[in-house]
Amino acid sequence: MQQIGEHALVLGAGMSGLLAARVLTEAYERVTLLDRDPIHGDAAPRRGVPQGRHAHVLLARGGEIIEDLFPGITGELVADGAVVSHPLADFRFCAGGHTLRQVPIGATMLQSTRPFLESHLRDRVLTLPGLTPAGGRDVVGLSIADDRRRVTGVRVVRGRDASTEETLAADLVVDATGRAGRTPVWLQVLGLPRPREEEFVVSVGYASRLMRLPRDYAEREKAIAVGPVPDRPRGLALLEVEGGQHIVTLAGFEGRHHPPADHDGFVEFAASVSPPDVLSAIRRAEPLGEIATYRYQSSVRRHYEELPNLPDGLLVTGDALCSFNPIYGQGMTLAAMQASTLRNSLAQGLPGLTLRFFRAASRAVDDPWDLGVGADLALPQFRDRRTLSTRLTSAYTRQVQAAGAIDDQVARQFVRVTHLLDPPDQLLRPGLAWRVLRARTAHLARRVPRLSAPGR
Ligand SMILES: Cc1cc2nc3c(=O)[nH]c(=O)nc-3n(C[C@H](O)[C@H](O)[C@H](O)COP(=O)(O)OP(=O)(O)OC[C@H]3O[C@@H](n4cnc5c(N)ncnc54)[C@H](O)[C@@H]3O)c2cc1C
Repeated sequence: MQQIGEHALVLGAGMSGLLAARVLTEAYERVTLLDRDPIHGDAAPRRGVPQGRHAHVLLARGGEIIEDLFPGITGELVADGAVVSHPLADFRFCAGGHTLRQVPIGATMLQSTRPFLESHLRDRVLTLPGLTPAGGRDVVGLSIADDRRRVTGVRVVRGRDASTEETLAADLVVDATGRAGRTPVWLQVLGLPRPREEEFVVSVGYASRLMRLPRDYAEREKAIAVGPVPDRPRGLALLEVEGGQHIVTLAGFEGRHHPPADHDGFVEFAASVSPPDVLSAIRRAEPLGEIATYRYQSSVRRHYEELPNLPDGLLVTGDALCSFNPIYGQGMTLAAMQASTLRNSLAQGLPGLTLRFFRAASRAVDDPWDLGVGADLALPQFRDRRTLSTRLTSAYTRQVQAAGAIDDQVARQFVRVTHLLDPPDQLLRPGLAWRVLRARTAHLARRVPRLSAPGR
C-alpha cells in the first residue's frame, strides 16, 4: 500500500488497537501504540481489559480476517495450545431452546482465553517496522489545529500521580480505547458536536471460571453455547482453551438472573441452564482460580458517519465505535472487520479518509447490530421496545432455530450467519424458507421437545 502519512497514533492496545496498528503500518511511516497498561507480551488478564477473564469466542469470520492480517498466526496459536473446533460438529449450540443439528458449517473456530489471543497478536504487532509501543500513558484529550478542521494529536498524562502532561503530535489519531472511549466528550470539550448515540440497556451479569473438566466430557466435544430463551433469560458458554483448561461463562439478563460469584451459587446457576451431561461435567470439574464477575449495562453505537464536519485526522474503531451485548460473541470479530474496512479506506488515499472510513464501518456494523439487538428483543423484558418489523424478525428467527434442530441445511445456514460469514438475508432464500416451513410442520406433528432447564 502507498504511504499516505508520516505518523499515526493508536489509542488503546486492546483487540481493535492491535489490529488497527497492524493495518496502519502499511500506510504510515511511524505508528505509536498507546495504552494505560504496559504493552508487553504476557498472556495474563490486565486492568484495562477486565472482560478478559470471561469466555471470548472468536467467530469464524474474525479468525479468517486475523489470519489474513497476520499470515501464519493460526498455526502459531495452535502450536502454543489454542484449540481448533468445527462448529457445529464439535461445538454444540442451543439457540432459542433448540439444540441445532451437529453438522459442519464449512469453517473452523479458534478457541483460547482472551489474554492468550491478545498476547499473540501483540507479539506480532511489536515486530512490525515503524511500530513504537508506549505503555503507561493515559490519553486525556485531543489537540486540534487553529482552524479546527484537523486533529493534530492527543494529550496524555504519565506516571502514577498523572502529574506529567504532554502533547503527542500525529497526522492521524485512531481511538481504540474500548467501551469507555471518550472521543464524544473530547469533541464536546473542543466545542465540536458529539455523535448521535444509540443505546440499548440490557443489564447482563457474567460470572466465569477456568476449570479442568473430567476427561470423559472433555474428549467428546470442544465447546457448547446455550443461549437465553424467553422463560429463562440466562446463557452459558463452555470452551476448551489452551493448556487443557475449559472456561465456563454464565450470563443472565437483569439483577435476579445475574450469576453469583460463590462456588455453590455458580454451580446452582449452571444447573438452571446446562444440559445434564454438561452440568455433570461442571459438578465434577477441578476449579482453577477464582470466579470473576462482570456487569454489562448496555449496547452502545455511536454514529460518527452522520457528522459531516468532523475534523480530519480522527477515526474511532472497536468498542469505542460500537459495543455489543457480549452474549453473542461479536465484539472481536467486529474489531477485525473494522480493521479490514480501515485497510480498504487507507488504500483509497488521504482525501476524504475520515468520512469514508466511518461510512464503511457503519455499514459493516449494521447487520451484527441488528442481529444482536434483534435477539435481545426476543426476550419478554424488552417487549415494549419491539416494532412490527422486529416482531416479525424474532418470530421468523424462532422458526429458523426450531428448524435447525431437525434440518442440517437450516442449522448450517443459521450458524454461518451468526458467525458473520454470510449476510442475514441468506436465511430468507426461498429454498431455505421452504425448509423452515417444512420443519415447522414436522415439529408440530412430532412436538420436538425444547431443551429444558434440568436443574429447575
Ligand atoms: C463479559 C464479556 C464477554 C465478552 N465475550 C466476547 C466474546 O465471546 N467474543 C467477542 O468477540 N467479544 C467478546 N466481548 C467483547 C470484546 O471484549 C470487545 O468487543 C473487544 O475487547 C473490543 O476491543 P477494543 O480494542 O475495542 O477494546 P478493549 O479490548 O476493551 O481495549 C481497550 C484498550 O484501551 C485502553 N484504554 C482505555 N482507555 C484509555 C485511555 N484513556 N488511555 C490509554 N489507554 C486506554 C485499555 O487499557 C485497553 O487496552 C466480551 C465482552 C465482555 C464484557
